Amino acid sequence: MNPLKTSGKDARQDGRQEARQDGRPDSAASVSPLAPVPHVSSAPPASPLIERYSEAEVPTDYGTFRLVVYREVAHPDVEHCAIVHGDVRAARDLLVRVHSECFTGEVLHSLKCDCREQLDTGLRAIGARDLGAVIYLRQEGRGIGLGNKIRAYALQEQGADTVDANLRLGFEADARRYHVASAMLADLGVASVAVLTNNPAKVDALRADGVIVTRRVPMDIEPNQHNREYLDTKRDRMGHLIRLRS
Ligand SMILES: [Zn+2]
Repeated sequence: MNPLKTSGKDARQDGRQEARQDGRPDSAASVSPLAPVPHVSSAPPASPLIERYSEAEVPTDYGTFRLVVYREVAHPDVEHCAIVHGDVRAARDLLVRVHSECFTGEVLHSLKCDCREQLDTGLRAIGARDLGAVIYLRQEGRGIGLGNKIRAYALQEQGADTVDANLRLGFEADARRYHVASAMLADLGVASVAVLTNNPAKVDALRADGVIVTRRVPMDIEPNQHNREYLDTKRDRMGHLIRLRS
């Protein structure tokens, strides 16, 4: 059984097969080639993770996108959103940003992280192209939730960095998972993706789920006085390949 199977959509299987036969990136501009990563044993559960719940077009500052909302089958109160530009079915080397929710950064414009800048960069880049998608995942605070993220911020006020704060609270440094994103890309019928990210672990996670990633597209981040240490920690302790604009 295809572990990524969602509610009754099978077209991606063909798309993936095609992409394997013709799976080369078609453009070398602004790319970071990645060596093939062996599949590891973090296979997603065999039952469908998500179901497509609703969709409609929404105009934004960055263009008009189709918002496709998915619900987790096991937790229907958890909703994730694909923000889609153009007809992405069977698309190859599709520019995709897989983005995790950040209430403090995106809604409150917190300067402690770079999430809003990354989301805006993703929406702007995808809105400027004919095709692309932002996969917006509801896993606040690198997967520990808003309340625990603020507990981690409290520890950071006492000198801990973002990694140690999470560890002290008994969490992983990064508790995010990407099986839902993989299932959403599969449901959308995307053949292969170019992932807009500075986080190689995200690319590895998608590939481990069977997503064909043609390349990683890096994002330059402009640091501010509040997030400089956070960005340094992500680079030095979490393996993010961050190019800081100075
Ligand atoms: Zn953030």
